[in-house]
Amino acid sequence: MVKLSYERPVIQKLNTGSMNKFGTRTEYAPFTHIDNVAVKDLIKDYGSPLFVISEQQIRKNYQQANRAFRTRYPKVQFAWSYKTNYLNAVCKVFHQEGAWAEVVSIFEYKKALGNGVPGNKIIFNGPDKTEEDLELAVNNNSLIHIDHFDELYMLIELLQRINKKASVAIRVNMDTGVYPIWDRFGFNYENGQAWNAINKIMSHPELELNGLHCHIGTYMLSAGAYGIAAWKLCDLAVNIKAKWNKVIDYIDLGGGFASANTLKGSYLQGSDIIPTMEEYADIISNTILNFGFKPDELPTLFLETGRALIDDAGYLCGSVIANKRLSDGRRATIMDFGVNLLFTAFWYNHKITPAQEFSHHTEDMVVYGPLCMNIDCIRESINLPLLNKGDQVVVHRVGAYNMTQWMQFIQMRPNVVMIDTNSKVHLIRDKESLETMLRYEKLPLHLEKIDL
Ligand SMILES: *Cc1c(COP(=O)(O)O)cnc(C)c1O
Repeated sequence: MVKLSYERPVIQKLNTGSMNKFGTRTEYAPFTHIDNVAVKDLIKDYGSPLFVISEQQIRKNYQQANRAFRTRYPKVQFAWSYKTNYLNAVCKVFHQEGAWAEVVSIFEYKKALGNGVPGNKIIFNGPDKTEEDLELAVNNNSLIHIDHFDELYMLIELLQRINKKASVAIRVNMDTGVYPIWDRFGFNYENGQAWNAINKIMSHPELELNGLHCHIGTYMLSAGAYGIAAWKLCDLAVNIKAKWNKVIDYIDLGGGFASANTLKGSYLQGSDIIPTMEEYADIISNTILNFGFKPDELPTLFLETGRALIDDAGYLCGSVIANKRLSDGRRATIMDFGVNLLFTAFWYNHKITPAQEFSHHTEDMVVYGPLCMNIDCIRESINLPLLNKGDQVVVHRVGAYNMTQWMQFIQMRPNVVMIDTNSKVHLIRDKESLETMLRYEKLPLHLEKIDL
């Protein structure tokens, strides 16, 4: 018989006012398997913590989004947003499904080329493109999305020097009723800057203006904002046709659709309030279709959806290091993963589920990571059953941005595995080690010897 561990009794104040109308959420069932693979086996084979990606979920998300748009609009093309998750295995699943690549740096650009994406199916966004980067993109016939006038002038100078033409679009920023406006990227619609950039481009024969782009924000809870964004890009397209007699090939509405995560401070669960993919698709396609384009001049709709296609395909499995009582009596649990791996914990109240059977006695607790850093807090308050040292948990919906924004601070990045559609597990990124770190360090000769 296992000796039951003793817990010092605590007196807790009952907080009758803090329930919302759906009651306090706790997890009632353990989350023991991901795509039919046992969490305990994953951790046994690949270590803890461990990122797990479900290939099946990625494909399902992609197909559902693609269907939502294609059934409402005749010409749709998704481009996978590399910075949301640029592990090659993840990108390749999207490319197999038919997504082009959307990149925001030359590093990502080269990654997309390396993944076999043809140059003319790479959308090159971002404010930081050097002349060298632009030359590579021009030679590969990529879709260059210009962010500011300095980039525009640099590109014109480059094209005149190498005597070539380039296909370009401009990024437009605008008021869509969601604040703050992301006006640091691209050219502003309302103050005429975008129209000015368009006229400059149209008057230069080395540039071919094929598209209009915007990316109005991320985790956008308002589908209506996309209606406004689509309207403003259509307005520019129609004005370009009227003044320059040039038909715009494509309108690119960027990314930003919300995933089902819950924002910190949100009264309701994310999954209960986010617009559906169909709602986003409805408002965007209605706006463009009803705008007044001639049938043969209807622009292709590009989408650079990131977060909404990958978040719920990613899990972080981890283990309990210790439990302790804070000075105010709250229970605290320390996990072997922290904000170094879960950057989005600053933003979301991630759902965390125990991976084994548990008692139904629950308590509000703080969940910390292992870093010696006070801000290393995964959840400030979560109602969970009591967890013991060594127990395992699964953090849900971590597929977006964590595997690109993770930081190396006193701990190494762990293994990442992908479970394929036949429930076979593949290691897709090796864990880092001391050697990984030391590879980049150099020691001056006079510091080699120490004598303590
Ligand atoms: C980050 C980014 C995206 C993807 O945004 P999500 O919010 O993850 O959908 C798309 N386009 C551009 C230009 C971006 O910078």
